[in-house]
Amino acid sequence: MTRYVYDFIDGHRGMADLLGGKGANLAEMTRLALPVPPGFTVSTDACRAYLADGAVPPGLFDEVNAHLREIEVRLDRRLGDRAEPLLLAVRSGGRYSMPGMMETILDIGLNDATVTGLARLSGDERFAWDSYRRLIQMFGRTVHGVPAEEFDRELDALHATAGPDGPTAEQLRGLVETYKKVFADRVGHDFPQAPHEQLYLAIRAVFESWNAHRAVLYRRREHIPDDLGTAVNVMAMVFGNLGPDSGTGVAFTRDPATGTPGVYGDYLPDAQGEDVVAGGRNTMGLAELARTDPTSYRRLTEIMGTLERHYRDLCDVEFTVERGRLWMLQTRVGKRTPAAAFVIAAQLAEEGLISWDEALTRVSGAQLAQLMFPTFDTDATPEPLATGVGASPGAAVGRVVFDNAAATAADPPVILVRRETNPDDLPGMIAAAGILTARGGKTSHAAVVARGMGRTCVCGAEALEIDPERGEFTVGDRVVRAGDVISIDGTTGRVYLGEVPVRPSPVTRYLAGELAPESDRLVTAVDRLLRHADTVRHLGVRANADTPHDATRARALGAGGVGLCRTEHMFLGERRALVERLILADGPAEVAAALADLLPLQRADFVAILRAMDGLPVTVRLLDPPLHEFLPALPDLAARVARAEALGQAPGHDGVLLAAVRRLQESNPMLGLRGVRLGLTVPGLFAMQVRAIAEAAAQRVAEGGDPRPEIMVPLVVDVRELAAVRAEVDAVLAEVPGAPPIPVGTMVETPRAALTAGPIARQAEFFSLGTNDLTQTTWAFSRDDGEGSFLGDYLDRGIVDTSPFETLDPDGVGRLIRLAVSEGRAARPELAVGVCGEHGGDPDSVEFFADAGLDYVSCSPYRVPIARLAAGRAAVAQAGVSDSR
Ligand code: ADP
Ligand code: MG
Ligand code: MG
Repeated sequence: MTRYVYDFIDGHRGMADLLGGKGANLAEMTRLALPVPPGFTVSTDACRAYLADGAVPPGLFDEVNAHLREIEVRLDRRLGDRAEPLLLAVRSGGRYSMPGMMETILDIGLNDATVTGLARLSGDERFAWDSYRRLIQMFGRTVHGVPAEEFDRELDALHATAGPDGPTAEQLRGLVETYKKVFADRVGHDFPQAPHEQLYLAIRAVFESWNAHRAVLYRRREHIPDDLGTAVNVMAMVFGNLGPDSGTGVAFTRDPATGTPGVYGDYLPDAQGEDVVAGGRNTMGLAELARTDPTSYRRLTEIMGTLERHYRDLCDVEFTVERGRLWMLQTRVGKRTPAAAFVIAAQLAEEGLISWDEALTRVSGAQLAQLMFPTFDTDATPEPLATGVGASPGAAVGRVVFDNAAATAADPPVILVRRETNPDDLPGMIAAAGILTARGGKTSHAAVVARGMGRTCVCGAEALEIDPERGEFTVGDRVVRAGDVISIDGTTGRVYLGEVPVRPSPVTRYLAGELAPESDRLVTAVDRLLRHADTVRHLGVRANADTPHDATRARALGAGGVGLCRTEHMFLGERRALVERLILADGPAEVAAALADLLPLQRADFVAILRAMDGLPVTVRLLDPPLHEFLPALPDLAARVARAEALGQAPGHDGVLLAAVRRLQESNPMLGLRGVRLGLTVPGLFAMQVRAIAEAAAQRVAEGGDPRPEIMVPLVVDVRELAAVRAEVDAVLAEVPGAPPIPVGTMVETPRAALTAGPIARQAEFFSLGTNDLTQTTWAFSRDDGEGSFLGDYLDRGIVDTSPFETLDPDGVGRLIRLAVSEGRAARPELAVGVCGEHGGDPDSVEFFADAGLDYVSCSPYRVPIARLAAGRAAVAQAGVSDSR
């Protein structure tokens, strides 16, 4: 027969799957001979069996009774005994802690008879009746769903009439009678008097609380599986509510907010655990316990030291003092803020409790990301004006502008406010401190670009009615004009009127070189852990950088090169006119002339970037986006032409442009004329870019530099495309004297490229996985449309766990990647493989890439430290240091 029940002395902390976290740690404390009241744990197996069959597994309560007898013998008290009653706590506790989500019932075993025994034993009649009324309330709520207010109302009424010393025993006895009536009225039968029946019903109620609505929601949010079930801990009660020399509290071995060493916690004299949670009375610091009961305080700090050394991590505890005697009721490795996680990990390593490798496993890239954003001073935030989607974290304050011209002309900082953004808005987005849109979600253009640039962004604030012509937006009847100051919070999505004070992140100031590593505890910890990550990681980290400015910043943040230098922005701004000429060119001569004018500009761009990244690789991607992106939008042009015609004027240049835009118009540009297809269709375009790169490299060599450009061909689906481009590229390279050897590689960003990676690798010296497009084309989800519409719904319904655009999908896209790596390297063993999609800076994805054996990831500059940390963690995980969660 399956065994379902384990005495605390029979378990240990490695048994959390079976005993739940609370049960396993109670067992561990019992093994450490710490003062834990005797008890046992009903396993998660029993819960799963109960939930599957809808009935308690056969024999369970016999087993419970056998273990109960052991407690009775040890304490020399009996459940239900009139003279010397044993009282029990029945407590839920699954594998992962779900604070406040599930149920605990205290004082099981009280009834009309045992309450008198308890009064005599404790010498405190008020305490006995108060405990009884607590049981009826907790039992009513947990087992039968009676709302707590139904009881609280009666309790409040009694307190209102009671004297200065609180209710008398007689009054509390009356309250118990009232509670029993409330119970019977709501439940339909009397409060059960048989203590064993109370116990059995309580155990079942805890099983059922696993599927309570709030518990299910909590698990979904925290990605905790639904099929684990909870254990039930049954243990002897100890009483913190037996007068001034009793009390209850919670404590941490270090400050969980900042990581500062030193015991830290709350204490409530003369109280039982639920009083702390209910919060009716103000708790006091542990200093209160130190003052009133120094012996218990000293014992508590000793025990916490023992626990921290034993668990080698921050622990939190729940404890109760019963008439000067300390009891431990719970411990676990405690939750903490991201700042505390770094500080504690580094300190434990300094103290020699853990290795630096292990310290790395205690912090995450996601936590580092959070530490890098500035925040609003939470004490100073007013009511939000509107709330949208927090699309790119951070806190930005600035004057409202509605277009590029205003964004670049106004004194910074400005917030660019648009209904939605498109590539035309790029200059404004670059100039702005933050971006606010009324439409779109986390994968809208604004969100993706803002995250890439590290700009704060709130999207889809639908309450905003934006009228750029009048230079204002409204929210209800509030009007906000161009030039007014607003504040946006890219983490919460909140938009505030006026200036909310911003606190800069010390971590970012350190990373930018403004703060010395030793300037504060947190920064020191981040510095130590990042440096350790660099010593252990195998995965290189490069940055996606299109400008010398970005490249310089990325280098300062620890990037080992540029993994993606996009060339499209080099065709924007003033150069757009040149691109227009190229697009509108009539015949090869005009094309050649337009390209000849672009060449020196491109060359200068590359010289600057190669200078910023001297000695490090710079992977330049040949032009990728469809050409119509460089022309005005069709509706705007059409409107201009129509207006001109209505006025009887010739549409002139606009008419020519409109015809070109109509000609280039595609119903699905993402799958249209772009990438390598563009290079093969527009003669001379790629050749011009390649020449610019090679000449720039030659110039840098002449200047005494060490340029290391690499040329990357986008959107290849067939090796013959690449072969055709290479013929042209190699010919140009051969013509430029003085350039170093320049590797030519390709992006792998379509399923077909991944599936035919072997042949493609024969033409490519390196692969760069473009995981944005690879995700779009593998899922057949358009990134621009997905999250704004159905992806949110998919997330809510659990069809997907995370957006595949944020965290790489290991099962589908990841499989293609593994295939591309293995077949590519089979064809060309020295093939270098990197990643340049958004995923390159996502910590979970970085761990996947490390496992897949990639050479490097490339991400936006400010994500470089996050990727460095994640790569370090991945190396430690691969080497096999266990992560004790
Ligand atoms: P949660 O998981 O929500 O913290 P617990 O099972 O830890 O719930 O119980 C809540 C509180 O009940 C504890 O913090 C403690 O104060 C009190 N409690 C639990 N077990 C006992 C016990 N054996 N004796 C006295 N109080 C207890
Ligand atoms: Mg607890
Ligand atoms: Mg792409």
